[in-house]
Amino acid sequence: METIHTPPPSPASGVPAPFAALRNSIAGSLHEPGSNSYVALATPWNTAVATRPAAVLEAATAVDVVVGVKFAAVHNLAVAVQATGHGIASDLDGALLIHTRSLDECSLATSRDPHGSATASTGAGVTWKTVLSQCEGPGLATLCGSAPGVSVAGYTSGGGIGPMVRTFGAASDKVRSFDVVTGDGMLRHVTADSEPDLFWGLRGGKGSLGIITGMEFDLLPLPLIYAGTLFFAAADVPKVLRAWAQWCPALPHVATTSVAFMQLPPMPGVPEPLAGKFTIAVRYVYTGNPDDGARWLAPLRAAGTPLLDAVGPMPSSMIGLVHADPDDALPAAEGSALLMSFDTAAADALLAVAGPDSASPQLMVEIRQLGGALAQEPEIPSALCHREAAFGLHTVGAGAPQELPAVAAHSLRLVESMSVWAYGGTLSNFSANTGKSGFSASYTVPVLEKLTLLAQEFDPEHLFRLGQVPTR
Ligand SMILES: Cc1cc2nc3c(=O)[nH]c(=O)nc-3n(C[C@H](O)[C@H](O)[C@H](O)COP(=O)(O)OP(=O)(O)OC[C@H]3O[C@@H](n4cnc5c(N)ncnc54)[C@H](O)[C@@H]3O)c2cc1C
Repeated sequence: METIHTPPPSPASGVPAPFAALRNSIAGSLHEPGSNSYVALATPWNTAVATRPAAVLEAATAVDVVVGVKFAAVHNLAVAVQATGHGIASDLDGALLIHTRSLDECSLATSRDPHGSATASTGAGVTWKTVLSQCEGPGLATLCGSAPGVSVAGYTSGGGIGPMVRTFGAASDKVRSFDVVTGDGMLRHVTADSEPDLFWGLRGGKGSLGIITGMEFDLLPLPLIYAGTLFFAAADVPKVLRAWAQWCPALPHVATTSVAFMQLPPMPGVPEPLAGKFTIAVRYVYTGNPDDGARWLAPLRAAGTPLLDAVGPMPSSMIGLVHADPDDALPAAEGSALLMSFDTAAADALLAVAGPDSASPQLMVEIRQLGGALAQEPEIPSALCHREAAFGLHTVGAGAPQELPAVAAHSLRLVESMSVWAYGGTLSNFSANTGKSGFSASYTVPVLEKLTLLAQEFDPEHLFRLGQVPTR
């Protein structure tokens, strides 16, 4: 058994925490302001969010996380966690930031049972890219999101709504177990049987109860999908968007789709027909027979003249190509909302505020069709809320710091213009940087109350109080 050395308490409040003692107590490393490594680790994907944690603990083991949490409790520091920075909490000032990138073990296991089930075990720093690369050989699929560069743990802690969500549900529905360090400094192995309430809260509760150090989840025997993106030019945008709105209600659950207005800058990696232009992208993943997939997509292919038609059979491990989200960090302003429906009147409202003639400053305005398997509560219930929303709206605008307030204001206007169709609330993974109000909007009142009670039990010092943590 490993001995855990907890540094001594501060002699008095207001005295800087003795980080040198913490550094000597961990197998990983500690990074303080003034070093390049601190800047590299504390900078999130959205570089417009300023992050100034008191120090960054780069954990090499789960025990390092225990030591960090206990140290923070003794020195009255808030604790935050970061893997890739894709969804960082809004305000890390003065917190101890625990960075998980070095918890990077990833392995797959295939059982010999009659169903041939397969699982993945991942450390908290593992991204979907790593899991996908290991899935390729055995022909397995996984419920990653649109951007495989995000961490499995961070994504799944918020539910995880990916490009096959209508067929297989949220990623959190497939979790078998977590290893987690709760706010009381305990490292726990959490399953539906061992700690049912914690297991419920960790699937959707978004880091409010503890820091996941590792997890195990099911993979799917699905080597091939019929998937990709159709791109159309600005002139086709209104008719393609209306056609998409009319097409969605009939789609079977084996199909998941989203549509996005894109204004991609000319830069390496952006195909010539799209660079510097206003286009519309129709994303599509069909998990059944490819011929049926093509038949279902035919009305959308015919809705305009595609600039690019990149839809066809592909290995499920290539699913990241469907959205082709950017990996690189950028200064961004994001917005999101959930909708009850998206009909042609909603399409017209969206076109007025964000269409080709609107002078929209957004890099991307996306509508994802939800429903299907997501709308069904899983066999083992979870804290993920708003499953019955029919569509998700998400905006991303990039620009220089002085341009971002106008981009954010436009995003708010856009969300307001959709109020007739609004469902209310957001999905927790899409409420980054919105602090406690964003966190609350991600949950129903009973779920928020239960999460708050669990936080009182498992995080008695309220260490995980920043950003997406229930208020008390
Ligand atoms: C380009 C882009 C595309 C995206 N696409 C999707 C998508 O398709 N579907 C979707 O559902 N989401 C999507 N997201 C949102 C993303 O899944 C969340 O922001 C997720 O939290 C990112 O996790 P991370 O660990 O990579 O990010 P980080 O910024 O490192 O962490 C974000 C938050 O995740 C939680 N977290 C991270 N690690 C842990 C841990 N070890 N234990 C407990 N909590 C933890 C914490 O609350 C933390 O503040 C997208 C985000 C971006 C920027």
